[in-house]
Amino acid sequence: MRMKKVFWAFLALLTLAWALTTWLGWQPPKDVPGTWWWQLRHHGLYLTGVWSVGMMSLIMLLALRQPWQERLVGGLDQVYRLHKWAGIAAAVAMALHYWGFKEFLGDGLKATFGRAGKPARDAVLSFATDWRGLGKDVGEWAMYALLALIVLTLWQKLLPYKPWRKLHRVMPVLYLAAVFHTVALMPLSLWAAPMGVLMGALLAVGSGAALWSLLGKIGQARQYSARIDSVQLLGQHAGQDPLEVLCALPSDWPGHHAGQFVFVQFDGAEGPHPFTIASAPGACGQAADGAERLRLVIKPLGDYTQQLHQQLHVGHSVRIEGPYGRFDGQGVQERQQVWIAGGVGVTPFIALLEARQPGAPAAQAGAAPAVLHYCTRAAAKDGVLPRIQALAASAQPPVELIVHDAEKNEYFRPQDLLRHGKALDIWLCGPAGLGQAVREQAQREAGWHLHQEAFQLR
Ligand SMILES: Cc1cc2nc3c(=O)[nH]c(=O)nc-3n(C[C@H](O)[C@H](O)[C@H](O)COP(=O)(O)OP(=O)(O)OC[C@H]3O[C@@H](n4cnc5c(N)ncnc54)[C@H](O)[C@@H]3O)c2cc1C
Repeated sequence: MRMKKVFWAFLALLTLAWALTTWLGWQPPKDVPGTWWWQLRHHGLYLTGVWSVGMMSLIMLLALRQPWQERLVGGLDQVYRLHKWAGIAAAVAMALHYWGFKEFLGDGLKATFGRAGKPARDAVLSFATDWRGLGKDVGEWAMYALLALIVLTLWQKLLPYKPWRKLHRVMPVLYLAAVFHTVALMPLSLWAAPMGVLMGALLAVGSGAALWSLLGKIGQARQYSARIDSVQLLGQHAGQDPLEVLCALPSDWPGHHAGQFVFVQFDGAEGPHPFTIASAPGACGQAADGAERLRLVIKPLGDYTQQLHQQLHVGHSVRIEGPYGRFDGQGVQERQQVWIAGGVGVTPFIALLEARQPGAPAAQAGAAPAVLHYCTRAAAKDGVLPRIQALAASAQPPVELIVHDAEKNEYFRPQDLLRHGKALDIWLCGPAGLGQAVREQAQREAGWHLHQEAFQLR
């Protein structure tokens, strides 16, 4: 919800700055046929350009994974959602800018009215007067590449995650090309305040972020060298059942809150993967050398995680970046707290349950009783379930555990949540389908507040 507000507020800010600057410098045009159409085309071209490069600057800024961004929108998964929606908005504005206003409307007006009412070519920044041709070409090619990358991001079946992630790294280069296009072609009149000040700040911050990304510096300040202290298979079948990995942390680890996640790099060639910290602070005890430990529960959901059991061994070094996220399972006291976990989406709830154990160092002040719905494929073979049952049994404030066992056709149905009351705070972590079903029901129920931890960052 906060993410949507930030998105619309940013779009409104860009539009307002453009409208004020355009209005302050506006001269009524000569009244020849087609003038007003040409004016519409002229201003539409610039407004869509401002939207597009403004949104791209926001995308670059959000890629920095800064703590203040999490506070603003409520967690890193929400920062990535905003990053994605800003990408979609930039693509739509870019398509309107080029095909809508420049090509389609420009050609149509030329054919209908001729060039008589067309505004004269705008003056640009003095140092950019010779950049016009190059600025246009660079902008056009960057636009094709950006649109192709945005389609590949949204249409996930076209390209698997790993090659997509490598390709996504060229985004900062394309952004810098868009900055060049803007500096070369944005009219001098729009560089006046307030648009000029806003655009100057956005291009400077966005370019800094793009260079930071190209230098591989993003997240570096929050990276820690840890080591594996224990690896255990939670079940019978390696490569199918989850692995429990305990990591011994360095002394400068800043600590975490129950429900947060980290990016974990077991292998330099593979790169970091996001995993929830499936333990409350201080709940995993210490390694032999006194180092604090945290727990990861990793389900083999893809090529890499399926062969992790062969790779990981005690003493193996791990790079951990974080912690990130604000999935704390604590809503408003007056509402019933409902937790919903699907499969390995139970990991943040393990941490939240541990934080509710008597004497836990990270006891949650002011926490309310909760109901946990846990959806599992087969309760009898679920290696994580016994721990969840034990933790729920002794949780304070209490947590009622309801297990939905698919093997026994005990499926979870969102409408069953109505029996918990009308005012619900729902905390959900699980597969996309489960999230979609609960979101659809939540849209029909005025008193439901849904907080979803997205297990997908693309
Ligand atoms: C916030 C968050 C918390 C998570 N917590 C857990 C957890 O506690 N336990 C658990 O088992 N799984 C967790 N996951 C999912 C886990 O990250 C993926 O299952 C894992 O990265 C898959 O890697 P793969 O190469 O084996 O699979 P692939 O088949 O390559 O990928 C499967 C899917 O995993 C995601 N993914 C893959 N690689 C990455 C990456 N480097 N960065 C981001 N996403 C990636 C993509 O959506 C991809 O489509 C979490 C994901 C997120 C976003």
